Amino acid sequence: MNFELEKLVRCNISKLIPYSSARHEFIGEASVYLDANENSFGSPLKENFNRYPDPLQWQLKLELSKIKEVSLENIFIGNGSDEVIDLAYRIFCNPGKDNVIICPPTYGMYEVSANINDVEIKKVILKENFQLDVDGILNATDENTKIIFICSPNNPTANNMSRNDIEKLLTNFAGMVIIDEAYINFSTQKTYIQELTSYENLIVMQSLSKAWGLASLRLGLAFASLQVIELFNKVKPPYNINKASQQFAIEALQNTLQVKEWVKQILEQREFLKRQLLNFSFVKKVYESEANFLLVKVEDAGDLYNYLEANKIIVRNRSREVLCDNCLRITVGTPEENLELIKILNTYD
Ligand SMILES: *Cc1c(COP(=O)(O)O)cnc(C)c1O
Repeated sequence: MNFELEKLVRCNISKLIPYSSARHEFIGEASVYLDANENSFGSPLKENFNRYPDPLQWQLKLELSKIKEVSLENIFIGNGSDEVIDLAYRIFCNPGKDNVIICPPTYGMYEVSANINDVEIKKVILKENFQLDVDGILNATDENTKIIFICSPNNPTANNMSRNDIEKLLTNFAGMVIIDEAYINFSTQKTYIQELTSYENLIVMQSLSKAWGLASLRLGLAFASLQVIELFNKVKPPYNINKASQQFAIEALQNTLQVKEWVKQILEQREFLKRQLLNFSFVKKVYESEANFLLVKVEDAGDLYNYLEANKIIVRNRSREVLCDNCLRITVGTPEENLELIKILNTYD
């Protein structure tokens, strides 16, 4: 495998001269800022939101680097993982020419974002056991294949992908491999962040939307080589992470113990919910989960979904996904929420 980053990047991006903001050109402390056409009088809020935020979010990255045990320069922060996915397409994939590989059933945004960017999708379905079809993936690649998306733990199947399989792809594919670890905090899988030094073609995605409980702040993370992070920084909107999100996230990241405790409880509740669900005759299978949700095969997913909805409980019907016939995806809730779900299921038949 001969990996050359220069060859993977779109020409217009290689040549791009990025926008240089006021906050980019002057870094340091000054007493009078007259460079960015802000309202120097202030903002009509207690907090001072009148100044543009740090375009590279250094303070937030410092906190993340301590928690994730990775250097600041290897971190990119996006407006949700959605932005990271979109930027990956815009950096590497020529519309109407290049393609990427996804492995359904998996997270829907890889495909939607490809369609928005007019990038061809090649689908290599997971095996019956929800593991990667490594040979199928490698056979599906051609000279225009730029990215392989791997979601581990996978949404909606909830399993970890085999480490051997992932390493085989990282070693044998000369394009980028994106490993989406949105559910890593709930998993026994070791993060791939520490493998960045071994694989130049690796991008690890994480998110503060799940275990960290910050879905509304929209903070998606990418970890990659310096060269790849530089490309993301070049293409992103200058102020993609607003100041409120940066500030709240810095504060939230001090609460590691709270998050650890929640994760512990969610894992306990996951096993409790699984045991309870298996008591119902209409539940055919509850798949092993390494995430904060359960994939549940039932007799009639559409009917059960409607019944739950009528009782004000919303789950996700994944029946239309390949390999997910009659499957509902159920997020692990609080103990009270899970008991309410069980109670309503007891009245179903
Ligand atoms: C929830 C989820 C994300 C997180 O998306 P954000 O845009 O960061 O909220 C990413 N990947 C997968 C597979 C998910 O399920």
